[in-house]
Amino acid sequence: MRLVMKFGGAAVADGKRIKAVAELVKRIKDSGNKELVVVTSALYNVTDMLRENALKMAREGEIESVKDFVAQIRDKHERAASEAIADERILEEVKGEIKQRTGDMEKALIGISLLGELTARSCDYIVSFGERLAAPILAGTLRSMGIDAIHLSGGEAGIITDEGYGNAQLINGADDEIRARILPLLTQNRVPVVCGYIGETRKGIITTLGRGGSDYTATLIGAAIDADEIWLWKETEGIMSADPKIIDNARKIPYISYIEAMELSYFGASILHPRAVEPVMEKDIPIRVKNLLKPDDEGTLIGKEPEHTEKAAKAITIIENTSIINIAGSGMRSISEVAARIFTALAAENVDTIMVSQGSSERTISIVIDGAQLQKAINAIKKINTMGSIIRDFTSNSNVSAVGVVGAGMAGTPGVAGKVFSALGKEGISVRMISQGSSEYNISFVVKREDAYRAARAIHEMFRMGQ
Ligand code: ASP
Ligand code: MG
Repeated sequence: MRLVMKFGGAAVADGKRIKAVAELVKRIKDSGNKELVVVTSALYNVTDMLRENALKMAREGEIESVKDFVAQIRDKHERAASEAIADERILEEVKGEIKQRTGDMEKALIGISLLGELTARSCDYIVSFGERLAAPILAGTLRSMGIDAIHLSGGEAGIITDEGYGNAQLINGADDEIRARILPLLTQNRVPVVCGYIGETRKGIITTLGRGGSDYTATLIGAAIDADEIWLWKETEGIMSADPKIIDNARKIPYISYIEAMELSYFGASILHPRAVEPVMEKDIPIRVKNLLKPDDEGTLIGKEPEHTEKAAKAITIIENTSIINIAGSGMRSISEVAARIFTALAAENVDTIMVSQGSSERTISIVIDGAQLQKAINAIKKINTMGSIIRDFTSNSNVSAVGVVGAGMAGTPGVAGKVFSALGKEGISVRMISQGSSEYNISFVVKREDAYRAARAIHEMFRMGQ
């Protein structure tokens, strides 16, 4: 079997876990899977530390704190390497790489501190160190177990992107590049250990693919090399009918279609990178979300056809920190023109919309966005009005959560929406906004934040999702 396997977050939290991951890789390789590609994300929490702490210190010019921070990151990775790698010579090599890379990171952070200026490009460069420090450790651990592993950055693996820093897209022709870099290694029986999340422009400048992007790296590579399957290893049972932290009887979904998985991830289920499914859909390559704690479990299989099931709705997700903006258009403009201006303004500020709904008689448009982007959105909308009489009035409210109900069975099943809203009615929960995608694979709605969990539980129960 030709397999691409991705390990991320908690799976590579420390040396002990990295060792366990390497043992698992070895076991899978030894059981006859000749061709393996491994993708790793950063050690647990490191991306956040880089994004939040390191960049903040640098922007504020705190050179001493930057130095302390880099020392702390170096220690953390050296400790992980020492725990995971048994072979002394290999350990020394890996420590050398860690030293070199943290040195580069320190130089860059000091540079930013001195300039007091942080661009999207330098931000991607700094956060890329998470993966660029993790991959040598995992590759070294595999080598010390006798596997001929080699670590590659995103660019070295052929992940060539545009310059959309923070959320870069693969360029045309990157597939050929990936094949050219990866396939010869597989032929030589080597195991590439690829840095997830990061890519490189044609000019060799590092980019990132968006938070949680290691999943995406795995599926991009899987699609390019025609893998038989892609396994995303997590510390959960698989894709769940709901977040088990919120709903006790949430259960694993054994099978889910590409489109359902996509809807779920777009709607805030943190299980998959939202774009991870795209690359494999056309080639129909199965993705499995596997449980590290129960490696022999089948996990959740993501595949092409929606399954025929009596359950119309399969899963429910909540996006908690959202804001809703209600905009009333001026009577002088058509609603299309008002909408065009609003979305152009939001797009110019990189504000993503989660949901949209529009009531034409009132000429109102309601937009749900990530709560963290509210100020940016308000500024963008205020600017529109200085251009003319487009908007009559607008209000916003951050005390709301969006809830998404997903399932292919909803298409063509009459009464699903009725069931959803009668469940809410019974709970006495009022709905602020509703939207249903035309794919009919999801119904989403907005409620007061304090009602969101109760709403989700009632619907989970109504559709017997946990059974
Ligand atoms: N390390 C990156 C992040 O935390 C990518 C990933 O985990 O997949 O977003
Ligand atoms: Mg991560």
